[in-house]
Amino acid sequence: MLKMIDAHIHLDHYNDQEIQDIMESDSSIEALISVSFDLESCKKNKDLAKLYRKVKPSFGYHPEQMPPTEKEIETLFSWIRSNQNDMVAVGEVGLPYYLGKDQKLTTLQRSQHIELLEAFITLSKELEKPIVLHAVYEDAPIVCDLLERYSVTGAHFHWFKGDSKTVQRMAENGYYISVTPDVLYEEEIQRLVQAYPLQQMMVETDGPWPFEGPFAGKMTHPAMMRESIKTIAKIKKLSMDEVSQYVFYNAKSFFAI
Ligand SMILES: [Zn+2]
Repeated sequence: MLKMIDAHIHLDHYNDQEIQDIMESDSSIEALISVSFDLESCKKNKDLAKLYRKVKPSFGYHPEQMPPTEKEIETLFSWIRSNQNDMVAVGEVGLPYYLGKDQKLTTLQRSQHIELLEAFITLSKELEKPIVLHAVYEDAPIVCDLLERYSVTGAHFHWFKGDSKTVQRMAENGYYISVTPDVLYEEEIQRLVQAYPLQQMMVETDGPWPFEGPFAGKMTHPAMMRESIKTIAKIKKLSMDEVSQYVFYNAKSFFAI
């Protein structure tokens, strides 16, 4: 029987009815790594994990927003430290690529984000938890530099997109990536799947983020990962069974769940 783990979802961003549907409608979903957006979101994910044993929370601060104040950072970090036994990873953290691209960030805010990420990398080392990263395109090599500087190897680049040199560097460093349902229709992601070792690959939805192609107009549900696995199998020229085993056990061992 097919077993799946959603390696990256924002479960706290769904409403109660949707969460219940996700939890109960598909018995092949074994676990969901629910990443956090800010402190409020960390608390919600912690509560969700108390309600549903499949929910594995990850605590962090999403980079595609204004950097937090010193006081907010202090509060967040001390909350994470005191709730470390309830978390499987540090995340979602990283660098604000899309916000920066739209020039909505000043140079100071950008450097505050880099400093914050550095603090999260140190925290992941201190707490001995893997780190879930949002770092795409030109931001990815900067994040690789930081991970190498602190000798952090338990790194997961979710929904990764970037140049082939960085892809090779990440693979060699033992970092993991995860693939969203856009692998069905995005050539860029299909090329990444082709190039990246299956031994370091997981599947995710980043839900409730909506998808296109065959998923247009549908609520993002972890069951969509079945189609992603099918596509990965086609690209890797392997059976769906083999691919599902790999991505399942990769997530299980990466997050130690
Ligand atoms: Zn996300």
